[in-house]
Amino acid sequence: MKTLTPAAQALHDEFKNEGRGCACHLGGAPCSHCTHPGNPHALEADDSAWINTNRVSPAHLRKVMEAVNEMVRFGIDFVPMPVYNDQDRKELADESARRLELLSEAAESRDAGGPQT
Ligand SMILES: [Zn+2]
Repeated sequence: MKTLTPAAQALHDEFKNEGRGCACHLGGAPCSHCTHPGNPHALEADDSAWINTNRVSPAHLRKVMEAVNEMVRFGIDFVPMPVYNDQDRKELADESARRLELLSEAAESRDAGGPQT
């Protein structure tokens, strides 16, 4: 069974509550009903709308563990967090990289004497 991500579910609820139905016959097709991102057809075609419940490969998990071991080695606090799908992983990985960059800058600043407070 497939499950929508919370964000996609919210879009789908919005679509259902809109309740106007298709207005393509009034001209200007495709109408806002048919092009709504919460439309079931749009969601079906969008992998990033669904939570992937398949087990991931041991090879992939080994790569993930390398990143975990790096953070442990540097004494960085972190939370292990499930990812919904490829798009979600990319966004979380970008956020993680952003935070590591920030931490790295803060550590450099500390080692250089830090801001005078
Ligand atoms: Zn329509």
